[in-house]
Amino acid sequence: MSIRENVPLRDLTTLRAGGAARYVIECNDEASVREALAFAQEKHLPFAVLGQGSNVLASDSGYEGVVLRMQIQGIVSEEEGDLVTLVAGSGVSWDALVTEAAQLGLWGIENLAGIPGTVGAAPVQNIGAYGAEIKETVAWVEVLNSKTGNIERIQNADCGFGYRDSRFKHEPWLVILRVAFTLSKTASPRIGYSDLAACKERGEDLSSPAAIGEAVRKVRSKKFPDLSVSGTAGSFFKNPIVSSEKHAELAKRYGAVPSFPVEGGVKIPLAFILDRVLGLKGFAEGNVSLFGNQPLVLVAEENATAEEIDLFATAIANKVHEETGIKIEREVRHFPTKSL
Ligand SMILES: Cc1cc2nc3c(=O)[nH]c(=O)nc-3n(C[C@H](O)[C@H](O)[C@H](O)COP(=O)(O)OP(=O)(O)OC[C@H]3O[C@@H](n4cnc5c(N)ncnc54)[C@H](O)[C@@H]3O)c2cc1C
Repeated sequence: MSIRENVPLRDLTTLRAGGAARYVIECNDEASVREALAFAQEKHLPFAVLGQGSNVLASDSGYEGVVLRMQIQGIVSEEEGDLVTLVAGSGVSWDALVTEAAQLGLWGIENLAGIPGTVGAAPVQNIGAYGAEIKETVAWVEVLNSKTGNIERIQNADCGFGYRDSRFKHEPWLVILRVAFTLSKTASPRIGYSDLAACKERGEDLSSPAAIGEAVRKVRSKKFPDLSVSGTAGSFFKNPIVSSEKHAELAKRYGAVPSFPVEGGVKIPLAFILDRVLGLKGFAEGNVSLFGNQPLVLVAEENATAEEIDLFATAIANKVHEETGIKIEREVRHFPTKSL
């Protein structure tokens, strides 16, 4: 078991902010997860699970606990007629899994190409992009329940998937070890989303999962800052879901406000409110700014502190609330969310 002490969380998270974690343990199999949990118990310290740190904001004061860094590798496939189930370790890079599926000619996760992070974190917020969500392909999620020590296989219907939500977000004692995805050999391209429809109009190849994956990566490269240059966690906020009455009220005030019908109301692209209503595209304060190409994305310069990022995000949320009456929620989570 590899144990490191006093590791800066800024080195383990893509926002590149935050103080030191007391211990960080790399977990590359179930046994090492169990050892890490036992180590935390022995030291009377809480623990928290981390993947590639691309959706979290660590605190400047660090974490007086044990970070389990998920590194479980391996992808195995099981074929049953037209369907193929890929079972991947929680430490597998998400985009590597998308590439593997595309190479096998399997449909289902190609629209989610290019999302940073690990397979194990993907069900936590039910990752989604370009008209697809992971909940459409997850067969089951295998967890180690740290409360009982048992391994549990949670079927899709019991994962509590919602918009950027799942039960795993609310039950952080479930350590995800492996995730199974059911993919199809039959072509089922979803290219209705505006950016992909535009690719089609330009005559780009969208005939295979690999081609769609590449098109998505190309579109994404313009929407997000380069992770090797800037600190970011992608979209910092969720798109708000409002009632149709509220949408009508906004449309009366601001003209045509784009919307997508979803369960419980209509989803409004927050980028529209930040850019067209509030004129905040590229807005900067100190070391933190909203990305010029996509205002939903918060960018942190090298010297940004977690507190600065936090205050900046709160200020943006307040501006949205003052102008529109909408309370926006963050997609990026504090790390750790809850001590265990
Ligand atoms: C440039 C950029 C673009 C992005 N684009 C998108 C996008 O299009 N769509 C989208 O949905 N997201 C997007 N994200 C957010 C992020 O990539 C995803 O949320 C991703 O799934 C996070 O993976 P991670 O391994 O980095 O998780 P982390 O940030 O390390 O962890 C996220 C949460 O999951 C928990 N967790 C991680 N691994 C496990 C595990 N094995 N068991 C239990 N809990 C675990 C952590 O405790 C934490 O609460 C983007 C981020 C960036 C930086």
